[in-house]
Amino acid sequence: MQRHVTFPQITLVTPDAAMSAEVYGGRAKCLQRLIRLDMPVPLTVALSFDTVRDIAQGRMPDIGAIMAPFGFAPLLSVRPSSLDPDWGGPGAILNIGMTQERHDALAATAGLRAATSLYLRFIQCYAVQVARLDPEPFDLPDEPTSEALRSMLAAYEAETDEPFPQDPALQLAEVLRSMARTWDGTTARLLRQAKGAPADAGLGLVVQAMALGVGRGESGSGVIQFVDGETGEPRIIGRYLGQSQGREALRDKRDAIPIICDDGGPCLERVAPFAVRELLEHGGRGRERLREEMQIEFTLESGRLRILDAVRVPRGARAAVRIAVALAQDGVIPREEAVLRVDPGALSTLLHRQVDPEAPRDRIVSGIAASPGAASGRIVLTAVDAQASAARDEPCILVRRETTPEDIRGMHAAVAVVTVRGGITSHAAVIGRGLGLPCVVGASDLEIDRRRRVVIAPGGRVFAEGDVITVDGTTGDVLAGEAPTIPAALDEAFRTLLGWADEFRDMGVRANADTPQDARLAHDFAAEGIGLCRTEHMFFEGERIGMMREMIFAEGAAARRAVLDRLLPMQRDDFAALFRIMAGKPVCIRLFDPPLHEFLPSDRQGLRDLAEGLSRPLSDVEARVEALREYNPMLGLRGVRLGITVPEIYEMQARAIFEAAVLAGQDGEPVVPEVMIPLVSARREVELVKARVDAVASAVRAESGLPFTYRLGVMVETPRAALRAAEIAQHAAFLSFGTNDLTQMTYGLSRDDAGRFLGTYVEQQVFEEDPFHTLDLDGVGELLQIGAERGREGRPDITLSICGEHAGTRRAIEFCRRQGFDYVSCSPYRVPAARLSAAQSAIEDAINSHS
Ligand code: PEP
Ligand code: MG
Repeated sequence: MQRHVTFPQITLVTPDAAMSAEVYGGRAKCLQRLIRLDMPVPLTVALSFDTVRDIAQGRMPDIGAIMAPFGFAPLLSVRPSSLDPDWGGPGAILNIGMTQERHDALAATAGLRAATSLYLRFIQCYAVQVARLDPEPFDLPDEPTSEALRSMLAAYEAETDEPFPQDPALQLAEVLRSMARTWDGTTARLLRQAKGAPADAGLGLVVQAMALGVGRGESGSGVIQFVDGETGEPRIIGRYLGQSQGREALRDKRDAIPIICDDGGPCLERVAPFAVRELLEHGGRGRERLREEMQIEFTLESGRLRILDAVRVPRGARAAVRIAVALAQDGVIPREEAVLRVDPGALSTLLHRQVDPEAPRDRIVSGIAASPGAASGRIVLTAVDAQASAARDEPCILVRRETTPEDIRGMHAAVAVVTVRGGITSHAAVIGRGLGLPCVVGASDLEIDRRRRVVIAPGGRVFAEGDVITVDGTTGDVLAGEAPTIPAALDEAFRTLLGWADEFRDMGVRANADTPQDARLAHDFAAEGIGLCRTEHMFFEGERIGMMREMIFAEGAAARRAVLDRLLPMQRDDFAALFRIMAGKPVCIRLFDPPLHEFLPSDRQGLRDLAEGLSRPLSDVEARVEALREYNPMLGLRGVRLGITVPEIYEMQARAIFEAAVLAGQDGEPVVPEVMIPLVSARREVELVKARVDAVASAVRAESGLPFTYRLGVMVETPRAALRAAEIAQHAAFLSFGTNDLTQMTYGLSRDDAGRFLGTYVEQQVFEEDPFHTLDLDGVGELLQIGAERGREGRPDITLSICGEHAGTRRAIEFCRRQGFDYVSCSPYRVPAARLSAAQSAIEDAINSHS
């Protein structure tokens, strides 16, 4: 039978009161839990979201009813209680009810000094936070004397033309009104929305009897927690300050003492050992029953412990993993919940060194955080200088307007990369992530003066080549000098959590890997194969670029083939190395994708060198470059179009793949290579390429005498390929959605240039997010859905995957999983987060299907 609970607008928090975080906020609910655990929580009344909304609109509830449970002349505090404590809220206000009369009475019990200090603090807080007066006249004096009290009361009267209110009910009403209105203010709203709160998030308030923290016996206030918020290691941490009130009073107070210490210094354990024992007991019970590591705020009032509040221990990514794992290992929460509790986005920060979050930051410029991690080094402006710097063992940071495939070796040599242009899927960003290099792109406020060999930052700050900077690829900041960093955290807890994630996951995770180094990383991060090997990078290395250029200049198919025959053994070795490292796991190799002009020099000197190298007249070289020039190269002769018009390249690659599979299969696990055709938009393209690749496979089978098999698939990265997936699928064993190009073509938005205005577009809410960063579920998503459905229509057993940059994000993983995709493929460093995301999506679906 359904039980309908009606919630009163104002309720005394007791163990049995009807209380929910959705009505009264998380703090009120948490206080009820603490009370149920028999913790000594002072009397508390909770005001619902609706009540606080009424107050903001001028409808004050019955203040007498709120105050009644507290008895005669109470001193009260009011604290915010939003649904999620992380959304913040107005600051707590303490000691409401303090009047001259109450002051005099308190002086008799707690002493004049304590009473005056308390009254002074209340007047200050009321004047600034409630009456919203200029704070200056209300600075707290060094000594809480009667004279200081008189002068602060006089200041209040002078500013408001009214004496300081002496009616506790009036004080409380004004406090409630000011807190309700603060929550409604624009700044507060924007701040909490930035933390994920909905626009109509409500505020509850808790009114609590003050536990004074001042008095003649041992009195004071403190906070305690039982784990380290950075590392997650079990440790008693906290501070206590005698004769003080609340966590605010502890902040920046040098005379606060630790809870425990083993160096013989002062600590709470020495001052009040009984209180520490009690706190440990409450802490242990709290962890078990609240199923969380909590930070407890407490007071001692003449030796008597009171617990005012408990919040989740604020934590970094490393601690989040360790805490979740420890709670599950101790049987406090199930493993599924531990997996759900860790934010996959934060996980990738653990795989890299990070700028120490505690250290000061001298920010030069900000851009798009394209690849996480931190590194410091000397500025270099060219790929050649980066290589020279690496040869001298000097860490360097490559700063470029944008990078091109020619910079690849410079990127390998650098410890981090910064570009002025480009977005999240620009060349620098993709390669940076692939190499695990910290990378900031689109730092458009940076100017590079190549002639003077300097970079100019906003405000005219000039940094010369050789100056040391730090790239924080996690935040997108570039910092001056060498910032202190903290190491990566691939610890036992991390591995345990991901092991659990794999148990719950029902979707595969592969890596995009082009080099043996990438493949090893992919293997180390437990990727289940390579979902995308971009082969073009292999043609830029060493002598290969020269051969590529020769091939481009060769006259006719036979001459081209002759040059490609020299490239063949190199490609074969590349592929064999990948097959061996992946030890029988699937490896999907994408055939050549970029336009040929990317292999030709763009400046005059480069053209001259090329003419010399090829022993051809400069005019010939210029004419060829001109002939290859396209207005829209990304929509031009590339991918399968090149495969059809210059078929020798794909034939060479297919042969290299099959010969490598035979080689690797002879001395290791059998290999079933996957060959993927890029940029397809028509069925006939697949038919033509398939016929040629099949022929090469037959030839290699005949030559080697080994009956290997292979799978041919299609990359769906044009809208037409998604729409025509049914007929394309008839010739393909798999479809892999390349959402980088698919996003580019769906929006008609250049992935290399859009960074210039996307910021404005997002700001003005034309796009919710950068669609190259966050998969557009409405448009691009619909194409994925159509492509998947039609692909399955054409071939029911077709394998479906996504391999664009989105594939590493929780949003895309969840979407693709729900469309029945078989796996995602993302850069190696994103594999752990993808494993976790896929597990979370599966667990959530299982939970929803049971509820
Ligand atoms: C894509 O377009 O999504 C893709 C993976 O290919 P590339 O980024 O190499 O164009
Ligand atoms: Mg592509």
